[in-house]
Amino acid sequence: MELIDRIVRKVSESGLRRHLERLVGPRDPYIGYAGMEAAAETIAQAFKELGLQFTEDRFRCEGRWYRNLIALHPGSSHPEQVLVVAHYDTVPNCPGADDNASGVAGVLEIAGALIDQQFQADLVFIAFALEEYGNPGSAYYTEQAKARGTPILGVFDLEMIGYTGSTQTLPAGIQAPAVGDFIGVVGNQRSDGLVALFKQAAALVVPTLPVQTLVVEDNGMNMPLVRQSDHAAFWDAGYPAVMITDTAFLRNPHYHLPSDTLDTLNLHFLRQVTAATAASVASLAEFA
Ligand SMILES: [Zn+2]
Repeated sequence: MELIDRIVRKVSESGLRRHLERLVGPRDPYIGYAGMEAAAETIAQAFKELGLQFTEDRFRCEGRWYRNLIALHPGSSHPEQVLVVAHYDTVPNCPGADDNASGVAGVLEIAGALIDQQFQADLVFIAFALEEYGNPGSAYYTEQAKARGTPILGVFDLEMIGYTGSTQTLPAGIQAPAVGDFIGVVGNQRSDGLVALFKQAAALVVPTLPVQTLVVEDNGMNMPLVRQSDHAAFWDAGYPAVMITDTAFLRNPHYHLPSDTLDTLNLHFLRQVTAATAASVASLAEFA
């Protein structure tokens, strides 16, 4: 518990804000291409400054090259890996503060909070390209992982984690509060242990953060909404993965609009979600 406390204390609003200030802005592969490349450089730099083993994994899509950014904190004994991922691209004409600079800021802040500890499992931090375009970035990554037989214990996919609002829409058949102040955790049946782990960790380290969980059948094939991020590529490859989300357009009126800006985010909420994720990762990877 003392180690977890130490990790959670390192996750700060000021750290998250610093990441966000560097990331928010156009980052789409069309009119925002230069911004997307600049964001990739910013993220690569941040990973390297933390002293992580950094690799750029390039893949081709519709005649152009894109890059997933991968940073490794090697474990002490297990061959297994625990992944924390988020996409860094946006749609055109959208600065993408919530979608998904918030998720990338979370990944960077978690990396910073965990690198001083030694874990049994490898920690792998990834910023994926092109989630907004059918996630070819994470699909490429999971193909490689599967081909190599990489044992992945669990994946935490941060997909929009910075917005709260007074109203909350819900898909038919889903029970949850009508106030948009909770963090949603979505898993498939293979990932129900990860969902429970997050809920437990959150209750321990940020007890005032409301958490709503959902475990879907058949990899969410009957509910396309729950497949809309990079975690779906991991589900399809047979790996346990959860999407951690403020529920995107079910709550955030700025979704995919020019108004998805930093000043609309709730940094207190973002810090709580990031802290709960850091604690979940630490407990899954096990202290060495
Ligand atoms: Zn997104």
